[in-house]
Amino acid sequence: MKTKIVFSEKCLGYGSWHTEGPARVRRAQEILKEKGYDFLVPEPASEEDLLRVHDQEYLWMLKKSLVEDADTPAYDNIYEYAKLSAGGAILAAKIKGFSIMRPPGHHAGASGAALGASTRGFCYVNNIAIAVKHLDKPTLILDIDGHHGNGTQEIFYGNAKVTYLSLHRHPNYPGTGIGSDLNCINYPLPFDCGDTVYVGTLVRALRRLDMSKFEVVAVSAGFDTHADDLASLGLSRKAYRMIGENIASLKRPTFFALEGGYRGEDVGNDIDQLLKGFEA
Ligand SMILES: [Zn+2]
Repeated sequence: MKTKIVFSEKCLGYGSWHTEGPARVRRAQEILKEKGYDFLVPEPASEEDLLRVHDQEYLWMLKKSLVEDADTPAYDNIYEYAKLSAGGAILAAKIKGFSIMRPPGHHAGASGAALGASTRGFCYVNNIAIAVKHLDKPTLILDIDGHHGNGTQEIFYGNAKVTYLSLHRHPNYPGTGIGSDLNCINYPLPFDCGDTVYVGTLVRALRRLDMSKFEVVAVSAGFDTHADDLASLGLSRKAYRMIGENIASLKRPTFFALEGGYRGEDVGNDIDQLLKGFEA
């Protein structure tokens, strides 16, 4: 069955001047529509869902637009946008779909910037973490964004039910994920390492896992690994098809939430290739 795309026009309403702007998701959505995908519109996550991951004080500050850093502006109503994006990840988790909602989430820790990072890296609440806690099943979180998901690692560090696995560029923002620790498995990769090194590393990483522990795979799906994007690992479009095939080989109910990827043309086509590989 073809994976459904979770999307609401409402997520395009802020930040048109920013790198993490609406144009990237708009273009990706147009491409996926042209390619015949079906779409579902999410509802906002509940406050209860957010509180399973974030502390009350941080959420209050977010609601009042009082928390801002150099990467992550305090937009008007950003709390509502963040709740809707988290709701997108929850809907994707329920229907085994792909949420292309923004803002992204994997740099957001329990109370904001995570593991000593200087900023929240365009993230407000941690969508994938909120969806994983909503499902509350033993889960493998696979983070294929080009940056380390320091927020997700912080939230699930030491959690017996969840394993966090990330491939990312190093050295780069946020500077974490150099080594593995407990349930957090990290593969730092050099700038522009290319398709062969990346996919080879992914295959080895997945082979080392004991998949019998997991009932669900949650993918933090970033596409800034694409050649010349913000966390380029020099990947071509072909790599995303192979990534999709390898995720399918885990044979678990799987959902996806968009993280980075800053050129909509590539994001749309890379998602299509990933899902074609996943569904093949
Ligand atoms: Zn990224």
